[in-house]
Amino acid sequence: MYDVKGNLRHVLADLPDDVQLVAISKYHPKEFIQQAYDEGQRVFGESHEQELRQKQADLPGDIQWHFIGHLQTNKVKYIAPYIAMIETVDSLKLLREIDKQAKKNDRVINVLLELHIAEEETKYGLTLDACRQLLDEGEWKSLSNVKICGLMMMASFVEDESQIRKEMMLASDFFDEVKQKHFSADDAFCERSWGMSHDYRIAVECNSTMVRIGTTIFGPRVY
Ligand SMILES: *Cc1c(COP(=O)(O)O)cnc(C)c1O
Repeated sequence: MYDVKGNLRHVLADLPDDVQLVAISKYHPKEFIQQAYDEGQRVFGESHEQELRQKQADLPGDIQWHFIGHLQTNKVKYIAPYIAMIETVDSLKLLREIDKQAKKNDRVINVLLELHIAEEETKYGLTLDACRQLLDEGEWKSLSNVKICGLMMMASFVEDESQIRKEMMLASDFFDEVKQKHFSADDAFCERSWGMSHDYRIAVECNSTMVRIGTTIFGPRVY
C-alpha cells in the first residue's frame, strides 16, 4: 500500500509556499484521493471526463478539480458545472465552447492555454506562434465567461536536465511576453503550470507557480 499521506507531506515540504500543488489522481482509486484530502490537499487533476465525473460525484464537494487531459469540445458540457480550471485549452474553438457552457451554468471558468514546446510530436498544445496568433486576433476578449489565468506546458520526457530547463525557460519567457502585451493590467493572468513528478524541482527554478504531480504522491498508475 502506498503511503499517500507521507508522500504528500514530502512533496509539500519541497515546494515553496507560493507554488500550488495539483495532485494528479488520474487512474488512482478514490481511496487514495480521500487520503490526500484528509491530509489537507484540495486541488486534484484528472484527464478523462468519465473518470472525473464519477470521482466528482463520490468525493467531497469542496475539492477543486483541474482538467489536465486533451478535452474534446463535446465533453465540455459535462464538466462545465463544477470544473475549477481547465488547463489544456489549445484552440479558439475549445475556448468558445467553454465560454458557451460556462454561460449556461451561469459561471466563469478559469482556463490555461496549453503550449506545445516539447520536441515529442505526440504532445498537444499551441505552438508559440499559434498562441500569439490566438491572442493577437482578440476574440477571446469577448468571451466573458472564460478567464485566461496563464499558461501550461509539459517538457520533453528526457533525462537531459538542460533540455528540460531550456523548454521551461522558453515557456517562462513566453509568459512574460504575453503578460506584457495582453495582460499587463490583469492580475488574474499569473499562472505558469509546469513540473511533474520527474521534473518539478527544475520547474520551480524555472518560475513555475503550479506543479502537477501524480506518481510521486500516489505511486505508479495502473492502466
Ligand atoms: C499525468 C500527468 C501529470 C502527472 O504526471 P506524473 O509523472 O505522474 O507526476 C502531469 N501533467 C499532465 C498533463 C499529465 O497528464
